Amino acid sequence: MLKAYKYRVYPTEAQKDLLIRSFGCARWFYNYALNLTNQTYQDTGKGLSRNDIINLLPSLKKEYEWLTEPPSQTLQQVALDLSSAFLNFFEGRTKYPNFKKKHRKQSIRFPQGVKLDGEYVTLPKLKKVYCKVSRPPQGTLKSVTVSMTPSGQFYVSCLYDDETEKPKPNSQGKAVGIDCGLTHFAITSDGTKHGNPKYYRKYEEKLASKQKQLSRKQKGSSNRNKARVKVAQVHEKIARCREDFLHKLSRSLVDENQVIVVENLAVRNMVKNQKLAKSISEAGWGMFCTMLKYKAEWEGKAYIEVDRFFPSSKTCNVCLNQVDSLPLDIRFWDCPKCLTKNIDRDINAAKNIKDEGLRLLAGGHLATASGVRVRPSKGTAFARHRSVKEESTRL
Ligand SMILES: [Zn+2]
Repeated sequence: MLKAYKYRVYPTEAQKDLLIRSFGCARWFYNYALNLTNQTYQDTGKGLSRNDIINLLPSLKKEYEWLTEPPSQTLQQVALDLSSAFLNFFEGRTKYPNFKKKHRKQSIRFPQGVKLDGEYVTLPKLKKVYCKVSRPPQGTLKSVTVSMTPSGQFYVSCLYDDETEKPKPNSQGKAVGIDCGLTHFAITSDGTKHGNPKYYRKYEEKLASKQKQLSRKQKGSSNRNKARVKVAQVHEKIARCREDFLHKLSRSLVDENQVIVVENLAVRNMVKNQKLAKSISEAGWGMFCTMLKYKAEWEGKAYIEVDRFFPSSKTCNVCLNQVDSLPLDIRFWDCPKCLTKNIDRDINAAKNIKDEGLRLLAGGHLATASGVRVRPSKGTAFARHRSVKEESTRL
């Protein structure tokens, strides 16, 4: 199995200098190739292949001598990155590839010639870089990605292969459905509500004051750059807190359950809704699901996503009656059919998500229980759900 280990690294001034110039070259080449792909597509109706992009390099290096400075394999990796960005776009996972910007996170990848021993990671051209190994890795090192945050911290993400097979998913055991809430980050089908950490609110004032300071600085001045770093530091602090919370929550849910069912919210589409935008992007649901998925896969547990068109909120879990509408501000409701009172909107949804996941498992709609994107056809899905539920209560 492949596992990534992320460590902070402390390059020397000379190494920093080479890294920053390498990030610059990689960014330039990415943007150059993206622009050329766009133009070629407009002119001919066809894009550029990965090899077309790699084959641009020799002549570009003659034209722009500075392109020979960074380790050469990092530029070839750019071609791979761009082609996978296009693949992700065509398969509907991401937006159209964007040009890379200087003040965002920067990175380069080394696919070979890398080594990590003791306290140093060895990279082509950069030689030994001091690395704080917080958790010893297992397996053989496959590749290393070096990145720099907007505030100027350096990290390496080391991909290791421990040569074990992924365990076969086994769905015998406790199952849990997890719903994404607004007042709480996650609600489970057993009725637990996991708080929505309000990092953003806590740091909001701090962020606002740093942003105000930034806006007063003159463009292009070194003071403006210092202020920009201060803003980036607050953003990065929030991101680290959020990641830590998500790691801990996903770890405990995977430890306690054998089958994990979540709702695929297609966060990318929902963020467009201004009213919910802040809460949702803040809550990091997509990142949370990714963590649940790989943690479950490592341990041979089943991870299932149910389609977001599945009416998990509007359906009474007791009698499967579906109400016409349920505005977001209604947290509790009464079922008009079975007369159940005070149904908790979120817990009810989590229970439905769990049942839907188990239905898909039982019906054999999943080729493997792990990580399969499930898309039940609209309309028929819920009718099937009803019959399986009725059957299961008879057992
Ligand atoms: Zn009911």
